[in-house]
Amino acid sequence: MNDASTTQASSDEAVEVAANLEEINAKISAAARRADRPASDIALVAVSKVQPFERVEAACLAGHRLFGENRVQEAMERWPSLRARFPDLKLHLIGPLQTNKVADAVGFFDVIESLDRPKLAAALKREMDKQGVHRPCYIQVNTGEEPQKAGVMPLDADSFIARCRDEHGLDIAGLMCIPPQGEEPALHFALLREIALRNGVVSLSMGMSGDFETAIELGATHVRVGTAVFGARGTR
Ligand SMILES: *Cc1c(COP(=O)(O)O)cnc(C)c1O
Repeated sequence: MNDASTTQASSDEAVEVAANLEEINAKISAAARRADRPASDIALVAVSKVQPFERVEAACLAGHRLFGENRVQEAMERWPSLRARFPDLKLHLIGPLQTNKVADAVGFFDVIESLDRPKLAAALKREMDKQGVHRPCYIQVNTGEEPQKAGVMPLDADSFIARCRDEHGLDIAGLMCIPPQGEEPALHFALLREIALRNGVVSLSMGMSGDFETAIELGATHVRVGTAVFGARGTR
């Protein structure tokens, strides 16, 4: 087993991914220390979308177990073989979810981070009951109120969280946001945290390659880091 792992992980790319993971984990620990938080409170969601299989496999071989994908179909093509080899893998869906993909998403992902509308909440609950599984959900908040971006508006967040919990019986475990390009992300992270605090939501998925340290200082429990782990993404 070990011999096979070593051979498969021996390419330059694999070495680089392992080194990146180490570096990011060190940065996460340092940011946690600055914020006077235990590093164990922060999970690195390695965003593997569009990345070559070898890099993703390398991360698994390096011991990483938590990944984020933004497309259901793409995730279902590449992850089953890795899950068979690394049964303790956890996968988060971080991209927009169409209601016609809900059955697949509920069957496949451990956490759905992109819940953003009542119709989807109802479909998720129905499908979880049908499949007899429990999946924690995060609500995506459109903190920048960008028309092209998914997520509930900040002003609608409290009522949507309550509705998901009370009406749909979902486990709303976290909130997620993607700050607008070119804006100070800290303001968005602080807003997300405020919404979480006043609604008793525990997890905060915020911070990407360029700003995960800031996010940790503002309370992130999950940082979603892609290119800093795996390198630049090619086109789909
Ligand atoms: C792609 C993506 C990320 C990772 O972005 P990087 O800048 O590569 O770290 C994080 N969150 C979401 C929702 C994404 O789609």
